[in-house]
Amino acid sequence: MVNTPCYVIDKDALKSNLKVLSGVMERTGCKILLAQKCFSCYALYPLIGSTLSGATASGLFEARLCHEHMPGKENHIFSPAFREEDMEEILSICDHIVFNSIRQLALFGKRAKACGLQVGLRINPQVSTQPAEHSIYDPCAPGSRLGVTLEEFEDGISSYPELLPLLDGLHFHTLCEQNSDDLETTLNAFEKQFSSYLGLMKWVNFGGGHHITRSDYDIPRLERCILRMSEGYGLAVYLEPGEAVALNAGYLHTKVLEIQHHKGSIDIAILDTSAACHMPDVLEMPYRPPLEGSGAVGEKPYAYRLGGPTCLSGDIIGDYSFDAPLKEGDVLVFGDMAIYSMVKNNTFNGMPLPSIYIEDKGNLLLHKEFSYEDFKGRL
Ligand SMILES: *Cc1c(COP(=O)(O)O)cnc(C)c1O
Repeated sequence: MVNTPCYVIDKDALKSNLKVLSGVMERTGCKILLAQKCFSCYALYPLIGSTLSGATASGLFEARLCHEHMPGKENHIFSPAFREEDMEEILSICDHIVFNSIRQLALFGKRAKACGLQVGLRINPQVSTQPAEHSIYDPCAPGSRLGVTLEEFEDGISSYPELLPLLDGLHFHTLCEQNSDDLETTLNAFEKQFSSYLGLMKWVNFGGGHHITRSDYDIPRLERCILRMSEGYGLAVYLEPGEAVALNAGYLHTKVLEIQHHKGSIDIAILDTSAACHMPDVLEMPYRPPLEGSGAVGEKPYAYRLGGPTCLSGDIIGDYSFDAPLKEGDVLVFGDMAIYSMVKNNTFNGMPLPSIYIEDKGNLLLHKEFSYEDFKGRL
């Protein structure tokens, strides 16, 4: 029995994802980094670092976590805009730094280079491969603040010719939960726009959003994309997936607190976990998390709307059906809860943070428990 609510990280599932990723690395020679913003439970960094080439960070704190818990592995960082006050430490612990604009490259590029870092620039290849309703996840959407277009790149290096020789690589990140056909579409545009500069570079970074460990992912097409850059231009190729590393490698266990019956409406089960606090992507993406032993409404005889215990009317996880009626004390287990969950949770409404367990070959180990002090301490 576990204390609810809690996340359970499935070490065996993580290992099998890492095996898929290491296959890609072995067959193509590419390097794969963990995007820490998706999953930063550093207790698993020794395992992840034993397979992957390192990690990438969205800022100083994630970079520090990689530096401390994946020692000796590559430590990359990207930010839409770096802060001067973070730069000294960043430059002392990172191996690669990727800038988001010509201005940031001009501000910090020379210094980064002098400290021995490899310097990159994020490109916006301006090819949207995500549906319009997904535009908050589309760095190629009109007006994007992420990455430099070809026109901005060429204006920049003609105004400041000293910047081009600072660059070791180009980076693009345009995908979210996508297959390799969309990567290929993006790479075609990137290559068409930037091929004349690739000979000056050492590497290209394909960003994240590659759903490599999903069962229908087309790995051979990904590998052809990688080899096109490594064999065609002599470039090292980096991928920095988050989701693919920990996909389906975690669960969220929760208890039913109360069943409500309302006239003319689906029955409601109030859980001891909150969408808003413990799985915010359910509301933000939005998506319907998988739930063990459940079906869509209509599939099984007993249907419920599952809601959280906060004040937010929209703190609803979704509608599900079951073989038997739910009752107080029942434990429900949501799947795919390793990614974008622990890293995004919060204590809105004074909600307790879920404990974290690590499951290794069927053994459950309590890794972390949180208390009132974790709520109070941030305020
Ligand atoms: C979010 C992000 C990633 C990881 O994306 P996943 O969808 O989790 O694979 C990698 N690189 C950058 C720059 C990102 O913003």
